[in-house]
Amino acid sequence: PRTPLMAGNWKMNLDWKQGLALVEELGDQLKGFDTDKVETVVLPPFVDIRTVQVAVDAGKLPIAYGAQDISAHESGAFTGEVSGAMLKALGATYVAVGHSERRQYHGEDEQVTGAKVKAAFAAGLTPILCVGEPLEERKAGNHVPYTLAQLTGGIEGLTAEQAEKIVIAYEPVWAIGTGEVAGADDAQEVCHALREALREQYGDVVADAVRVLYGGSVKSSNVVELMGKADVDGALVGGASLKAEEFAKIAGYQ
Ligand code: 13P
Repeated sequence: PRTPLMAGNWKMNLDWKQGLALVEELGDQLKGFDTDKVETVVLPPFVDIRTVQVAVDAGKLPIAYGAQDISAHESGAFTGEVSGAMLKALGATYVAVGHSERRQYHGEDEQVTGAKVKAAFAAGLTPILCVGEPLEERKAGNHVPYTLAQLTGGIEGLTAEQAEKIVIAYEPVWAIGTGEVAGADDAQEVCHALREALREQYGDVVADAVRVLYGGSVKSSNVVELMGKADVDGALVGGASLKAEEFAKIAGYQ
């Protein structure tokens, strides 16, 4: 059985003081939560991560944390970038790779995404590989092949051992920040197709272990229905992860 994963992507919101307040409040809300039943993760901006680390350690909070992006390179002359080793040194365990906003605004293609997934594994981090189609592709009925092509590019060259650990997040671009959540059946359709593609390439052990998340306008009011679907193992939450009470409700959906 796969442990559900609820990840909050703060995007470019909350400075370190605001991030500290949120994580402390979230820690209060999650008191008594069994992390074996649901894993709660926050992905703050880089400049907040150290603060989150200190708060999580000091309060022994049941919250894991990571970054929203990672450099494809190990170290050296890459101005503005942050390496996997640096994140690892902060106690980070997860990193989002290939978020649609990175693809759209920073020109990240399949090659870059694949390299970043490998960099995450090399540093001992778990990548959350984000995939999902824009509206035109959905309208044209191409959402499944489009998304599967992003998966193929992102996992290229991974060993079965690595593939088993990866987290995939299906985030249809038209559902991100729009209030327009994909129907639970639409989410299931693509999450299922992603898992079956993993099955074809890596077999049952990998396919049955990988957590496939849905993302796009997830709230406490729609999470239960989404989580009721067989291939949806969690959520990648943007806006609703910026309020401790709401995000704790999402994490505590059971
Ligand atoms: P919203 O939950 O704000 O729609 O954002 C989804 C997302 O992009 C999470 O990575």
